[in-house]
Amino acid sequence: MAHSASRSRTSDSIARNGEPGGEADRARIEAAVRELLLAIGEDLEREGLQETPARVARMYAEMFSGLHADPRQLLSKTFTQKYDEMVLVRDIEFASMCEHHLLPFMGKAHIAYLPAGRIVGLSKLPRVVEALAHRPQVQERMTEELADLLMEELNPRGVAVVLEAVHTCMTIRGVRKPGGVCTTSAMRGIFRDNQATRNELMALIYGPR
Ligand SMILES: [Zn+2]
Repeated sequence: MAHSASRSRTSDSIARNGEPGGEADRARIEAAVRELLLAIGEDLEREGLQETPARVARMYAEMFSGLHADPRQLLSKTFTQKYDEMVLVRDIEFASMCEHHLLPFMGKAHIAYLPAGRIVGLSKLPRVVEALAHRPQVQERMTEELADLLMEELNPRGVAVVLEAVHTCMTIRGVRKPGGVCTTSAMRGIFRDNQATRNELMALIYGPR
């Protein structure tokens, strides 16, 4: 069955890659940052750099904490509710790290689902976004992971995920397109199959056109 095949392919990496409840090896990050500073020709003794390796290690531990989190667990508690209209949480802010350059990309996630008798606490959705954002990521994969995760855990009639983000690896280097917003979307179930449902969603996110 296609559904279970996709789950077994993605579930482990979505659940977590690192030790559950663990965190990044900060001493090792500090050593690597010292090495990096030497490699670019910096002077480790310079006053402004004294705390930098430790500071970067703390920041990386936070930005990559999602590798040790299991977003499935956040969605494991659902409630029976006779509500079969669209649930949309708009403008969930997130910050992630592009895995190609280790530079931040940040923006907003819009998540919608059509329940089939079960709903999840609304506060859980931003936490799921954070668990997936706080990993080395690419926006396209994060969008699909969010959609697949919600389909698998909530068993709704459909899921829609739209991500809008600015990638600093685009704005500060290479093509230098400041302000370019990258939009990705993943539609599952009724959002993929039914144009009217998709139109209703887009009107709710962006306003009627
Ligand atoms: Zn990049």
